[in-house]
Amino acid sequence: MIKNGRASGVVLANGDEIYADVVSSSVDPRLTYTRMIEPGNLPDDFLEGVNRYKFRGSSGKVNMALDGLPNFKCMPGVGAHLRGAMSISPSVEYMEKAYDEAKYGHWSSHPYIDMVIPTLTDTSLAPPGKHILSCFVQYAPYKLAPGLDWDTEKEKFGDNVVNTIAEYAPNIKDIILHRQVVTPLDLEREWGLSEGNIFQGELSLEQLFFLRPVAGWAQFRSPIKNLYMCGSATHPGGGIMGAPGRLAALEILKDGGA
Ligand SMILES: Cc1cc2nc3c(=O)[nH]c(=O)nc-3n(C[C@H](O)[C@H](O)[C@H](O)COP(=O)(O)OP(=O)(O)OC[C@H]3O[C@@H](n4cnc5c(N)ncnc54)[C@H](O)[C@@H]3O)c2cc1C
Repeated sequence: MIKNGRASGVVLANGDEIYADVVSSSVDPRLTYTRMIEPGNLPDDFLEGVNRYKFRGSSGKVNMALDGLPNFKCMPGVGAHLRGAMSISPSVEYMEKAYDEAKYGHWSSHPYIDMVIPTLTDTSLAPPGKHILSCFVQYAPYKLAPGLDWDTEKEKFGDNVVNTIAEYAPNIKDIILHRQVVTPLDLEREWGLSEGNIFQGELSLEQLFFLRPVAGWAQFRSPIKNLYMCGSATHPGGGIMGAPGRLAALEILKDGGA
């Protein structure tokens, strides 16, 4: 809600109105400025910057419920190695080739996979003897090549991840109870991450520091008075650290706060 060029609150999807002295958005600039604000409230050059901001998500997830633990050929049996991050990234060349496919709109046939088994550190997450395997997978380009779409590629992408893990831990297929595949399109649809970018926008040089998210507007403020940004699309960018939120709070306090 904007009144006289100042943010005055938010309207929820159900129509409820919440009034506030300060509104601080932790979603990305595309959602904040082009989906949540009525057109006509922002200067054109600022909106141009927002529209130029790049997302281009490139990763997916495959989560599995397991009836046991994977048994790796390179280190058989249960051990401390299963409690850490297990990475399938045998060489720089392997990862480079995985990225090459994504450049042309295909998910990697030999993907980089980063796996963790959270149930080994928090047993409350599953019944005794059962486990969760959470796999972060690259590359899965948001924009697929012409003729391909994520709704039909999704399970093929998941199958390929399982097949890849099976090369290293052959028992994996026998212990899968359930599987959840999350594509970049799912990240956008389900969690509001535009183009499935896990950091609310690429962490590329032209979108970092004083350029994040838009040149001239990197200090958590916006062209609308009392409207701030405080999420991963602001400096110092995406990551599990909370720094954008803290820095935004300090700026809000400097301006007089709420
Ligand atoms: C699969 C994945 C793997 C990652 N791996 C790592 C990692 O290994 N290391 C690392 O440092 N970082 C990682 N990240 C990035 C990190 O998790 C994020 O940068 C960080 O959590 C973002 O915090 P935030 O508070 O800025 O935004 P978020 O935590 O994204 O908060 C934004 C909130 O806004 C909500 N929202 C969205 N749309 C709307 C709407 N229309 N109305 C109301 N609410 C809405 C969302 O549901 C969400 O709760 C990963 C992210 C993902 C998705």
